[in-house]
Amino acid sequence: MDDASAAVIRRAREDAVEFVRLQFTDILGVVKNVAIPVRQLERALEEGIMFDGSSIEGFTRIEESDMRLRPDPSTYCLFPGLTGEARAARLICDVVRSDGEPFEGDPRMVLKRVLQQAADMGFRVMLGPECEFFLFRRDPDGKPTTQTHDEAGYFDLGPVDQGEAARQEIVLALESMGFDVEASHHEVAPGQHEIDFRYDDALVTADRVATLKVVTRTVAARRGLHATFMPKPIYGVAGSGMHTHLSLFRDGENAFYEPAGPYQLSSVALHFVAGLLEHARAFTAVTNPLVNSYKRLVPGYEAPVYISWSAQNRSALVRVPSGRGRSTRVELRSPDPSANPYLAFAVIIAAGLDGVRRRLSPPESHNKNIYHMTAEERQRAGIRSLPGSLEEAVNELVKDELVVETLGSHVFSRFVEAKRIEWDVYRTQVHRWEVEQYLGTF
Ligand code: GLU
Ligand code: MG
Ligand code: MG
Repeated sequence: MDDASAAVIRRAREDAVEFVRLQFTDILGVVKNVAIPVRQLERALEEGIMFDGSSIEGFTRIEESDMRLRPDPSTYCLFPGLTGEARAARLICDVVRSDGEPFEGDPRMVLKRVLQQAADMGFRVMLGPECEFFLFRRDPDGKPTTQTHDEAGYFDLGPVDQGEAARQEIVLALESMGFDVEASHHEVAPGQHEIDFRYDDALVTADRVATLKVVTRTVAARRGLHATFMPKPIYGVAGSGMHTHLSLFRDGENAFYEPAGPYQLSSVALHFVAGLLEHARAFTAVTNPLVNSYKRLVPGYEAPVYISWSAQNRSALVRVPSGRGRSTRVELRSPDPSANPYLAFAVIIAAGLDGVRRRLSPPESHNKNIYHMTAEERQRAGIRSLPGSLEEAVNELVKDELVVETLGSHVFSRFVEAKRIEWDVYRTQVHRWEVEQYLGTF
């Protein structure tokens, strides 16, 4: 057994852990969890734990269903529990085939592959997300509703309500798992919250986003609330985004910073921005994967619609926040928290790196509010829009070789198949709006 695995076993013993939660994520971004008693931990670290891959969305067909979870020892931490609950540790796993070969359908593998490409170019990719979500009440049967506990707005202090108290507990739970939470606040909409943790390596950050979702849901449920990362749960109020801050480091230095460059940005940063804009229409299916995602990407709610970048204007798809030096970064504002973080980060990073590799130049930056331009003005300025629906997004995805290759053929085909079905089921529904609008008139 290697040192890292031995250390995990030692820590589990010291922590008096009773069982271990093995965490992984399916292609559609649902975080899965297999619990094993602690006496199986040694075997899990040495051989992996067998599971039936055909029962996981998008993994394998029945005939090749034997898969293994191989825990990554660097991800060991205690899972926050209540007193009286069994003590549990948590490990994030890679998914491998029964012969031990990496499984090409594992989203974590897809991200690792892109990070290897970045490393081959000399870059370490750093990433920091802003996760927004809603906390809703449950009805007397425990079913989630869309009713909130509060009517507070952005940064309101207000009396501490149940949502606020739940968010504080979520933050403490995350901190106990090694998160460095930099900000946590109420967002614009009633019941809407945001938690921001410190940027880190892209893989660590993707693992943390998956963990944040589990912890947020768990803590909310213990308090009788329901946490949702659905992008637009309520019509007419702000939706939930997952703004993603990105930077590249080379030899320990921020490779986006260049004091003499335009906006103090290096050519690497400008190429990276150009790559993001070039592939934005194609990667949106992955960063905004639900039918509902496109109800958020509309004017009026601080979510991006048009493909542009800016060093000043907050409405742009890609914004350059004011920090310079080591904190020089770009912020992509389209992703939403329903995305699979591994796949979303993989396609975003691949898009940026493609810009660097091909030395693409970004279009002119737009500092004025694009929402105030007419459609004609936008067209003259060459500003395109993000896809308006999941159907449009999937059609763009399949045309973009870079994004398709980044996902790999297994993930790509399963993802597209699932999304086309999702769209078709949605498309043929009769919505309440249609009935209200048409039933009386026609
Ligand atoms: N909730 C907004 C969105 O959908 C973002 C608000 C903000 O700027 O933090 O992206
Ligand atoms: Mg926010
Ligand atoms: Mg932001």
